Amino acid sequence: MANRANPTPLSGDRNWDGETDLLIVGAGAAGMTAALVGALEGLRVVVCEKSDMVGGTTATSAGTVWIPGSHQSEAAGVPDSITAARNYLAGVLGDDASDERLSAYLASGPTVLDYLERRTSVVFVPPPIHPDYRDLPGAAIGGRALGVLPFDGRRLGNDFDRVRPPRREFMVLGGMMVGKNDIPALLEPFSSWGNFKHAFSLLARQARDRLTFKRGTRLTMGNALVARLLYDLRRLAVDIRYGTALKELVKAGDEIVGAVLTTPTGALALRAGKGIVLATGGIGRSEELRERFLSENTRRYSLTCDTNTGDGILAGERVCGQIDSKLHSPALWMPSSVMKQLDGHLSVFPHIMLDRAKPGLLAVGSNGRRFVNEASSYHDFVQAMLRANGAPANVPSYLICDRSFISDFGIGLVHPGTRDLRRFVDAGYLFEGETIADLAAKIGADGETLSQTMERYNGYAETGIDEEFGRGTSELNRFNGDPTNKPNPCLRKIGPGPYYAVAVWPSDLASSVGLHTDSRARVLQSNGELLKGLYATGADAASIFKGTYPGPGTMIGPAMVFAWRAAMDAAGVLDNYATPTD
Ligand SMILES: Cc1cc2nc3c(=O)[nH]c(=O)nc-3n(C[C@H](O)[C@H](O)[C@H](O)COP(=O)(O)OP(=O)(O)OC[C@H]3O[C@@H](n4cnc5c(N)ncnc54)[C@H](O)[C@@H]3O)c2cc1C
Repeated sequence: MANRANPTPLSGDRNWDGETDLLIVGAGAAGMTAALVGALEGLRVVVCEKSDMVGGTTATSAGTVWIPGSHQSEAAGVPDSITAARNYLAGVLGDDASDERLSAYLASGPTVLDYLERRTSVVFVPPPIHPDYRDLPGAAIGGRALGVLPFDGRRLGNDFDRVRPPRREFMVLGGMMVGKNDIPALLEPFSSWGNFKHAFSLLARQARDRLTFKRGTRLTMGNALVARLLYDLRRLAVDIRYGTALKELVKAGDEIVGAVLTTPTGALALRAGKGIVLATGGIGRSEELRERFLSENTRRYSLTCDTNTGDGILAGERVCGQIDSKLHSPALWMPSSVMKQLDGHLSVFPHIMLDRAKPGLLAVGSNGRRFVNEASSYHDFVQAMLRANGAPANVPSYLICDRSFISDFGIGLVHPGTRDLRRFVDAGYLFEGETIADLAAKIGADGETLSQTMERYNGYAETGIDEEFGRGTSELNRFNGDPTNKPNPCLRKIGPGPYYAVAVWPSDLASSVGLHTDSRARVLQSNGELLKGLYATGADAASIFKGTYPGPGTMIGPAMVFAWRAAMDAAGVLDNYATPTD
């Protein structure tokens, strides 16, 4: 297949440099799943990936999928049902719950998990408890959110370097991945024989890995998912082109027939006989799309992969694909704290679940008042920051605690037990005050108001009842709190000083605005007509949950299910798995 030095505008099937059946643009969960399924169904597949690594934001994620009613959940003893999930979604989404894509998702989800388990190395298992994010009828406590099994990166040989590493902030000891289940053993290795054995094996493995590899090879969460997908793509000899980016889609009549790609050796025009799957990870860092769809006070920080620059959505729009932005929120959020490291690296640390729900922390706006149940989901926390009700939005907000909280749980980048906080205070990351009034002055709040807020909170800690925001009342709150803390796992008195605060900002973990698609992941035009030959999935497609965040895994779940549906449709076999909405 030759490269074209100077491609002329293409239409129809003239001037192609090569041909494939299915062209996949972007190698995250969405693109890699579509590629894998396409190859398994006998299609010739080319994956073009802009960077020199696979994984995108997926590789830095927790890798959880939210798929109701699976056999895996039943086998693990935490059965779930699609009917319960449908009830739950009706509560979360109201009228929007009647979307045909949602029905297709619910119907196909378990099939996709089984298909992957049967034919690939991608196996998901639900932890016993991983609650949904909203306290509504039909919400699950466990069984609906599934995690991928860890993977040994050594099985990839030299291609281990092709797996995008996790976020630097989430690795310890020169590149060791730490999953939620590893934390107790690492924090208290001598508290039990089990903890000791687990901590010892993690540390010994890391020490061995560091002799040969740039980082630890025991991969968990999103990194394990990506590594497993890459392992299978290699096994099936799928053609992955690194450093190769989508530039333009080529249209003939009302059909997309191929694409022009930029490659390390020039432009390449590739014809795709069965279709193109856009999976470039959504709005990401695209300044143009951030300006169009995100409010100004949310544009500053993004947790998405830095090579995601909205290319798929913009290319889709240029060929008349419709962008769906009529959503509850244009993006899914996390509150993140930010610190410039000594080597110049800007750490953006997402406060997912390690500190906000723990007892002895509260969040205030710069007016010194609480505005949210701090233990709610990261998305709901930021939505509350932005819900100004006429007043200025709480951007940034401040997480406040005392010294013993930092010893017990850590806060953001400050690990539990950290003795010397000077580095964090000097970097402007931690605000420190001997008294509440001192701290209030540092964060620009009124001392009297902050004292009253703290007093009220401490009163709630005594009774165990948060009369303002109900902290500690939901399954999610209690799951992320401290079960040993009584009477409420999420409330304990703050003080005496010194007191500490960390500023948190809205940061997008994914966009929910994206291309309008149908139940087969086919892109639609603004007149409702199909754009034949073009699929979009993952964050390139508009959220099926309309910018709400029902539970853990509600991005990668749909990304993979609709990638499967797209590839099956392109291969002409989706109807063998017909669902009532097809
Ligand atoms: C800290 C964190 C934790 C998260 N945890 C979860 C979780 O547990 N469960 C969940 O559901 N969601 C989670 N998310 C969100 C989730 O990770 C993303 O929404 C999802 O991984 C996006 O997958 P994707 O395949 O659409 O894109 P990505 O995984 O971002 O992949 C996109 C790929 O496309 C490539 N690309 C970009 N432009 C081009 C181009 N022009 N040509 C070719 N290639 C291109 C990129 O380089 C990248 O490799 C989390 C996010 C964060 C930040």
